[in-house]
Amino acid sequence: MSTPATPANFIRNLIDEDIATGKWGGRVETRFPPEPNGYLHYGHAKSIFLNFGLARDYDGACHLRFDDTNPEKEEQEYVDSIVSAVRWLGFDWGAHLYYASDYFDTMYACAEYLIGAGHAYVDSLSAEEMRELRGTLTEPGKDSPYRTRSAAENLDLFRRMKAGEFDDGTHVLRAKIDMASPNINLRDPAIYRIKHAAHHNTGDRWCIYPMYTYAHPIEDAIENITHSICTLEFEDQRPFYDWLLERLAEGGFFKRPLPQQIEFARLNLTYVVLSKRKLIDLVEQKHVDGWDDPRMPTLAGARRRGFTPQGFRLFTDRIGVSKADSWIDLSVLEECMREDLNKRAHRRIAVLDPVKLIIDNYAEGHGEECWAPNHPQKPELGKRALPFSRELWIEREDFTEVPPKGYFRLFPPRLDAAGIMQPGNRVRLRYGYVVECLGCDKDADGKVVAVHCRYFPDSKSGSAGADAYKVKGNIHWLSAAHACSAEVRLYDRLFAVPYPGRERDYLADLNPHSRTVVAAQLEPALKAAGAEECFQFERHGYFVADLVDTKPGAPVFNRTVTLKDTWSREHG
Ligand code: ATP
Ligand code: MG
Repeated sequence: MSTPATPANFIRNLIDEDIATGKWGGRVETRFPPEPNGYLHYGHAKSIFLNFGLARDYDGACHLRFDDTNPEKEEQEYVDSIVSAVRWLGFDWGAHLYYASDYFDTMYACAEYLIGAGHAYVDSLSAEEMRELRGTLTEPGKDSPYRTRSAAENLDLFRRMKAGEFDDGTHVLRAKIDMASPNINLRDPAIYRIKHAAHHNTGDRWCIYPMYTYAHPIEDAIENITHSICTLEFEDQRPFYDWLLERLAEGGFFKRPLPQQIEFARLNLTYVVLSKRKLIDLVEQKHVDGWDDPRMPTLAGARRRGFTPQGFRLFTDRIGVSKADSWIDLSVLEECMREDLNKRAHRRIAVLDPVKLIIDNYAEGHGEECWAPNHPQKPELGKRALPFSRELWIEREDFTEVPPKGYFRLFPPRLDAAGIMQPGNRVRLRYGYVVECLGCDKDADGKVVAVHCRYFPDSKSGSAGADAYKVKGNIHWLSAAHACSAEVRLYDRLFAVPYPGRERDYLADLNPHSRTVVAAQLEPALKAAGAEECFQFERHGYFVADLVDTKPGAPVFNRTVTLKDTWSREHG
């Protein structure tokens, strides 16, 4: 991947300052810490490009850390999918692959230290009672009656919690900070809870698990992270992050300077949902074919859809990084994919809704070649031959019996206003001849089954006579005897409205037309397309050979994006 400079942002400015002051001796170490409880989505791409991008540009390191402190909901399938998605985006963590659950011993030792130093206590109130004492945004909380337990009693109880003597929910370990703090997150937050559940990594070793807000700062400190970048909703947690690491530095667990938490605005994108819970529902309730369904806003889905890592990079650079929450329209992402694909995709011909075009004055059994450039702006990519013959496939919509105003494609001879018969319309068969429409054949239901025309032998593209023919229409075609048939899936937006779920249940906002499957005709060169090869089908958009369903000699294509933003035009 070529590496154009990433635009400056407030985080880069901050890092530049840290480098200037020598705070970490010039070191930049970030991390991307997904919880393996779902597949990564478009939003994660923003975080991945930010964190791995900083490591790349500052000669630092970015860790891939599985934040697997919650024993429920975490699965190996998710771990594997995350590894594959980050790699696909082009990043490498080297030796820095970590599991938060590998730190359970240190987290436990830190908790014992906090108890001994009077910074934590075991609370035995019920969840309900605890909620009542927590206070509100305007009222201070009240101390739990267990807050004054001695360090020895707390330590004894905590060890028995760990030993499995108590049921879930009977005790929690809480940090001892300030029940009157205006920041509710500092009102003695829970740091360990009892949960008799097996963990995907540690099995049955533990029946107490650290809370996320406690575990996360410790994970960062253990890994010597310099800049711990997270989304804005954690801003109010930062005082606890700092409080905890300061206490643990006092206890000799970590050295200063301590990791610094920095918040940025998460990606909000129209026409998709980015909440893991909703994505899981879409899969489990079978509204889509799986996590990698090309309509899913997951990175696995994006890959099958034909979105590219370079397109995501363009997108994340373009939307930037800031502290202001905002919505990005999905068309911005689609446009970035178009821009990237326009550069790389070879042009090919596909007829998606085929109808026969018969050239009555072209000899039966005769054939020849026409030449089409692989990329109009890149002659160095060469040309390929398109076989031409008497019977062609054209798009059904490129013929009409009764042309509306401004229709420049094929229509049959007809009477004009003065009652005089006018010849049928002429179009150029792109890269081939000019033809004139003579009429059509219909079946018993009145459906057009073939269009007839005559061609002008001296009009072939590139020949001396070609310029003498002035026509307004220019249509694509394929020789029927040479084309190959293939399944093509026309994907569209998964949701029909910009903010799914805003007016009603988000599932009611699903777009019923998000996928149309057609039996298309493809030019012969496409028969050999390998999985993930992408092309521009002229006049139709960008398509990719499906990663899963493409077999040698039998490609299945997915539409990645249309050539232009047709959604805004049709729905806007
Ligand atoms: P949930 O919100 O369901 O807990 P999550 O999307 O936060 O899930 P994590 O696995 O915790 O999932 O996310 C890993 C990292 O990705 C976090 O550091 C988080 O800040 C970042 N991230 C998640 N969603 C977005 C988003 N929409 N935009 C930018 N970064 C995101
Ligand atoms: Mg999260």
